Amino acid sequence: MTRPMLKFLPFLLILVLAPLLLPPGRLGSYYLTLMILSLSYSVAALGLTVLLGYSGQISLAQAAFFGIGAYTFSLLTVSLHAGFWISVLAALVLTTGFGLLLGAISLRLDSHYLALVTIGFQIITGLVLNNWTAVTGGANGVANIPRPNIFGFQIDSDLGFYWFSVATLVLAAYLVYRLRHSRMGWALLALREDEIAAAANGISLFWTKILAFAASAFLAAMGGVLFASGALYISPNVFDFYQSVSFFAMTLVGGQESIVGTTLGAWLITFLPEVLRFLHAYYIAVYGLMVVIVVLFMPEGLYGMLLRGVDLFRRRVLGHREALDTDAVPLRADATQTRPVASNTPLLEIRDLAKHFGGIKAVDGISLTVNKGDVAVLIGPNGSGKTTVLNVLSGIYSATRGSIRFKGREITNLASNRINRLGISRTFQNIRLFPEMTALENVAVGCYKTGTVGLAGTLLSRPKGYREEAAAMEKARATLQLLGFVRPDMKAKNLPYGQQRVVEIARAIVSDPALLLLDEPAAGMNHEETQVLSQILYRIHSLGVTMLLIEHDMSFVASVATQAYVMDFGNKISEGSVSQVLTDPAVMTAYLGDEVEYA
Ligand code: ADP
Ligand code: MG
Repeated sequence: MTRPMLKFLPFLLILVLAPLLLPPGRLGSYYLTLMILSLSYSVAALGLTVLLGYSGQISLAQAAFFGIGAYTFSLLTVSLHAGFWISVLAALVLTTGFGLLLGAISLRLDSHYLALVTIGFQIITGLVLNNWTAVTGGANGVANIPRPNIFGFQIDSDLGFYWFSVATLVLAAYLVYRLRHSRMGWALLALREDEIAAAANGISLFWTKILAFAASAFLAAMGGVLFASGALYISPNVFDFYQSVSFFAMTLVGGQESIVGTTLGAWLITFLPEVLRFLHAYYIAVYGLMVVIVVLFMPEGLYGMLLRGVDLFRRRVLGHREALDTDAVPLRADATQTRPVASNTPLLEIRDLAKHFGGIKAVDGISLTVNKGDVAVLIGPNGSGKTTVLNVLSGIYSATRGSIRFKGREITNLASNRINRLGISRTFQNIRLFPEMTALENVAVGCYKTGTVGLAGTLLSRPKGYREEAAAMEKARATLQLLGFVRPDMKAKNLPYGQQRVVEIARAIVSDPALLLLDEPAAGMNHEETQVLSQILYRIHSLGVTMLLIEHDMSFVASVATQAYVMDFGNKISEGSVSQVLTDPAVMTAYLGDEVEYA
């Protein structure tokens, strides 16, 4: 049995054995009903684990999808007398379709507007369910909803249906788990953590957002069917805005990024009203207060809090320590690696490139060529347009005019993720890591574009998906080792600045790019770190990676660069070898008064 399965085993046992603890008689059957209810909520809330927890997109429409699933299934079976499973299929397909639609609409919306749009969708769905009486039955709802029949075995009893619900939850949890541990899972997290960095690593924001919404709607429909078949009767008021807020609370309270946490949250919020019944109308205030407290003080939810406690216990009481990667190759201050000789084959050709921001001519007609094997450096005073060149080059900004060719192919104004896929990787002047992911996961995201296993492969073929994830992790680990990095399991946000740089560079080179763009890699580093960095660049160069880097530190530039271009006020003022440009009078004039490190 694999480790993750062992992790889930205790929870599975609790779920399966829970009915044995029920009080006998009517009270017992009442609680069983509540347990069935909470299981159907869990499945739908898992949709929010994907959408909110993984991809960071806000939705207050989960109850609408839950309702569309429940209604489609119920109307097909009750009004049209369709079979149970074909109706389930139809409910899943139709609801996922609506998810795709909402995903597409929300593509260009930031969180606040996105929240508003989803609320709008929720309200419209409620109105349709209430007022399209001819089809939905309006406020009367739909009754006599069937229970499933499995291989001729009719599940009519509540206890039987409870176990059927547990099985459905396990299936949903499995799907979410597989999705999370695949390249699509990394893409979802990367999207949440930093959209620009995600796109710069070959991830399509479009398809990843669509995937998140579709997966979320699919799980909502699964939960909706379970709810309808469990309750035997549905009416529109179950699927209102309040229920959407409840789903949101379940995911947040339990732990938005955790499958077990979300299940726990669903259970808690279903049973809480029963436990707090003695408070009468004050219940809602207590409930609200609890949610606020959890959201404010426990960003990882109750389950996250629990795990944190276990971790603290292991470290403080059991003396468990973070393991360092001992296979990392230490970097010494010598430059003995054989470096490739620069060729005359142009890899990158920039012609008359301009980028204007309104009246500001940040870049105004730059031409430069980077040959295969070069370490070209772009120098210039602050604000001279260097970063802007890199941003246009990597598709973050579109060019005002001019052309960029890479390997002889026109790439001007292609999307960021497409440029990356052609073999151009980059780092950012202000480091853009995925802060909540470990160093290793950060680098593994760099492998996203070289992966081949799609959604079907991920969910249906376990070995294929596992193999790909393992291979990416292995490659990421090897790349970090190559750069002498020893803390693969530390969260990126907890790493010191210089180490964050190294991780960002590892992420950029893990996919073997043809061209690496580095924006001020030595900025903010001390002397020792800068020494290590030049060793890193030597190593990368000796692997055959061509580089274009922006740098301020002249001693650093002189030690690594084979070719230099100098910019001032958006124009190129000099080019040649490093020593040539540094003695160029035009360059000296441009730098006059500007602090430049000639040391
Ligand atoms: P460098 O990297 O050489 O320090 P930049 O390329 O960052 O310079 O900036 C060049 C000029 O373009 C600066 O005057 C800067 O204010 C301006 N600029 C850069 N990005 C933007 C933007 N998104 N909107 C408006 N102005 C910008
Ligand atoms: Mg800059």
